[in-house]
Amino acid sequence: MGTNSVYLMPFGSQLTAAEYAGRAKAVLMETGIISEPDEDGIFYNGKRSTEAFQREPGDDEYGFELGQIFSGPHFTVAPDEYVDAVFCPRCEANITEQWASAIQDEEGNRNEKDLREERVMCPKCGCGFRPDEVKGETVDKFYLTDRFVCFWNARWPKREWLADFDRRMECVHEVFEYGWT
Ligand SMILES: [Zn+2]
Repeated sequence: MGTNSVYLMPFGSQLTAAEYAGRAKAVLMETGIISEPDEDGIFYNGKRSTEAFQREPGDDEYGFELGQIFSGPHFTVAPDEYVDAVFCPRCEANITEQWASAIQDEEGNRNEKDLREERVMCPKCGCGFRPDEVKGETVDKFYLTDRFVCFWNARWPKREWLADFDRRMECVHEVFEYGWT
């Protein structure tokens, strides 16, 4: 199994980001999928972690390696990993460097800066774009979001598990997988 990340990206959530995170934590812990998340929302396998994901022969007893419930309060761009190059959506210039510095805070941390007002400037055509508006080489689409659940080194979630998760979370999740192939 390769190295990937599987994002559950919520759409139509009426909760605050903090409420979303609290609910996701409760649901995922109650069903044994995850361990208790730390203050950054990072979690490990619960006792029944495999129940959420499709299985292939030879898979081990873990459904994933590590994961995160992200709940802002600021907006970040997802994914920020597995991005090897991004391009200007207007003139196709390589703006990877500009993008990378736009999504980091002063200390170089990703995921900790509010990106709603952030603009990535293209040095070639001079246009500015939101960090989710750029074109990725390996990533089809970026999302500007204040909430998501992601799992690293996981298979695609089971359809029925995801339907149940949607129902409990009162919104719809789309699944996005990123990784090196
Ligand atoms: Zn450009």
